[in-house]
Amino acid sequence: MKYHWYQNSIFYSLDVETFFDSNGDGIGDFQGLIDKLDYLAALGITCIWLLPFFPSPNRDNGYDVKDYYNIDERLGNLGDFAQLIDKAQVYGIKIIIDLVVNHTSIEHPWFREARKDRNSKYRDYYVWSDEPVEFESVELSFQGEENTMWTFDEQAGQYYLHRFYKEQPDLNIMNADVRDEILKIMGFWLSMGVSGFRIDAAAIIIEPHGIKGAEQEELEKFFEEMRHFLAAKKTDAILLAEANVKPEEVATYIKGESRMHMIFNFFLNQYLFLSLAQGKVQPLIKTLRKLPGIQPAGQWLNFLRQHDELNLNLLTDKERQQVFKQFAPDESMQIYGRGIRRRLAPMLDGNDALLKLSYSILLSLPGVPLIRYGDEIGMGDDLSLEGRESVRTPMQWTSEPNAGFSTRAKGRKVIEKGKFGFPKINVLSLQSQGDSILNWIERLFSIRKQCPEIGSGEFEIIEQDNECLFVHHFRSEHGDLWFAHNFSGDPVTFSREELVGKSKKWVHIFGSRDAGEDRALQIDGYGFHWWRSINK
Ligand code: BGC
Repeated sequence: MKYHWYQNSIFYSLDVETFFDSNGDGIGDFQGLIDKLDYLAALGITCIWLLPFFPSPNRDNGYDVKDYYNIDERLGNLGDFAQLIDKAQVYGIKIIIDLVVNHTSIEHPWFREARKDRNSKYRDYYVWSDEPVEFESVELSFQGEENTMWTFDEQAGQYYLHRFYKEQPDLNIMNADVRDEILKIMGFWLSMGVSGFRIDAAAIIIEPHGIKGAEQEELEKFFEEMRHFLAAKKTDAILLAEANVKPEEVATYIKGESRMHMIFNFFLNQYLFLSLAQGKVQPLIKTLRKLPGIQPAGQWLNFLRQHDELNLNLLTDKERQQVFKQFAPDESMQIYGRGIRRRLAPMLDGNDALLKLSYSILLSLPGVPLIRYGDEIGMGDDLSLEGRESVRTPMQWTSEPNAGFSTRAKGRKVIEKGKFGFPKINVLSLQSQGDSILNWIERLFSIRKQCPEIGSGEFEIIEQDNECLFVHHFRSEHGDLWFAHNFSGDPVTFSREELVGKSKKWVHIFGSRDAGEDRALQIDGYGFHWWRSINK
């Protein structure tokens, strides 16, 4: 069977700017990240997704790029980037980067030319209209922060389309020159050694709205052009779709081996939180049953939290309210009317058992897990910061001033106070506490990597009478894996008796505690177990 490196990987996302500051200017940088590669390697990370690091006015945390061929000078230069790739390779870590091409920054030279001159070839790089056009059933991306998709540009004398902030004009993907520019950008970074791209806003890139003569099918074909180009340049590089879509739309992104390799599992993410909020597994089971099979050509990227809000837009109003009530009861914790702007640990109120249950589930779901910097130490959020900034505070390394992130007193604000403050929650302190979440996660990652069935095996849910118990199984040429997770805070009884024949023996490989030999066992509140079954 064909084996892809990403099927048994641990993905880790970070923003260079908030990870580690090597030169004391208060801003994280590439040399800082290079210094911390040994930490990431020891943690068990095998693929880093770098958030945008390009020159940018930073209206949207770098997702507004003004030069695709360079590095924000506050973070370093292309030489530092090349060093990062070299050193990461030594540790066996791959690097993927954000490809932000649904839009550019308003300061990008293409847009400057476009607005200046109707006859410039760059005019048609963007989407223009004499009047703002209403689109049916299209959600505003940042409701409350940006309340229109069309902004009138005085210089251009027309409105331009922007699905995000007005400082992010949308590119016209129907324009063949724009497509060529995008492939050229990909080629550049592939030659710099990256192992692939997270395709930012993939679902919006292929929306025909506002583009004259746009054909859905042709827009979608662009993914095929990208794949073709990628495969010709670097056979094992990947395309990862950031697309928050329903199961029936997944085929637009993962179509055999002709489009993307991976897709973020937003659908599952939302229902997993509903299950956690209810303490019941039905939402999770129903969702898993709805997901189309995409292996072996494609892979789900599963996650709990990432750098944006926890988007709950696919739930019903009632379901969303249930999740809000449990995990974001205060309005200040909610955002855009559809999401939560908190980190995982505070959402779960720092409950160690619940945190571990969540990670155990994440690591055992069909697909590949992604975690975000700081989540391995149970970092908190800062709700006094605006919008999504609440979950983007610097990494907490030590109990030294500024959490050891920077030696500069007035750099980016770190979380100081309370139970998630850096004096308590930091890498160094947690490493020295045997039973810390950090040491536990390191072990979890190590066990996960010894279970390739999860990334490539046949997946089966074994329904239980108990509505709090989630039992699942993977079978592959490597063997048989079994999992039981208790979503309630009370103990439950689980019997393994009927699951495998008498000729098999159970080997307990991981769990919230020792499982013993008994075929019926009590699983603690929020407890979980991982087993292999092998021939006697
Ligand atoms: C990114 C966001 C960003 C948006 C616009 C996304 O989906 O994850 O952080 O604001 O694209 O680029």
